[in-house]
Amino acid sequence: MPYDHRNTARRTLALVLAATGCCAVLAGCGASQASPPTGKSGQSPQSPQSPTTGHASATASRPPLASASPQPALSLAGRTVVIDPGHNPGNFRHSTEINQKVNIGTNRKECDTTGTSTNAGYTEASFTLDVSHRLRDLLTARGATVVLTHDAERPWGPCIDERARIGNAARADAVVSVHADGSAVGHRGFHVILPASVRGGSADTAKIVGPSRELGERIADRFARATGTAPANYLGDGTGLDVRDDLGGLNLSTVPKVFVECGNMRDPKDATLLTSATWRQKAAQGIADGIATYLKG
Ligand SMILES: [Zn+2]
Repeated sequence: MPYDHRNTARRTLALVLAATGCCAVLAGCGASQASPPTGKSGQSPQSPQSPTTGHASATASRPPLASASPQPALSLAGRTVVIDPGHNPGNFRHSTEINQKVNIGTNRKECDTTGTSTNAGYTEASFTLDVSHRLRDLLTARGATVVLTHDAERPWGPCIDERARIGNAARADAVVSVHADGSAVGHRGFHVILPASVRGGSADTAKIVGPSRELGERIADRFARATGTAPANYLGDGTGLDVRDDLGGLNLSTVPKVFVECGNMRDPKDATLLTSATWRQKAAQGIADGIATYLKG
């Protein structure tokens, strides 16, 4: 799907305004602050620091029973959302297992990676579990059925192909894979990764490219608004969106799915945000609002 730059400019402006909190003037204002991208991401340096231990697994949390009159809060009743906490805190102990190659349709790729960390040692795997738990609780409170692909109850993985299968098997209305980037210092901000149109082997994203883009745009808007964080300044032309064809978790999905890179763990300023529980709650809120808006909940 070609990328529409006119849209990009409008989206960039809307996102920057959302991030700087002056949503009220969205309709009118002309000034844009978005700076064009400078770098390239997605290459998480393999340097885990301290792992965390986890609990039990791929559990589906059911919403409370609806009272007589449906509560507006339960706006996601009947909806299933799969949350994929990126990596696993135990992966660094299982390099043989996570380095085995799995089939992602178009080619074969490592089962999983360890993920990155901040310079002070806060691991991406800990970050993704924390945000995923907060997101699960927010969505469950709105009545959704939430499935986690793992909850650190297993020593490593799941592999990227199994993560996609869990979303497909749940017939999820939306799947979000939670991550944080490991890019150069000065590369700041969040981005949402959308599936490219891919066809090869067991991969065929034709049906999910459109709905995943809509899901991704909603999440980017709401993430900027909830966190006050600007979109990535190193990719996506300031739109906060990136389209990729090399991620098995997207290529093998048959339901709407995106990855959210919440910020750059290797940038000191971003790391200050990512290590803050208050900011992580806002990040989860932004993703939950984006999902709910997409599901019209
Ligand atoms: Zn990651």
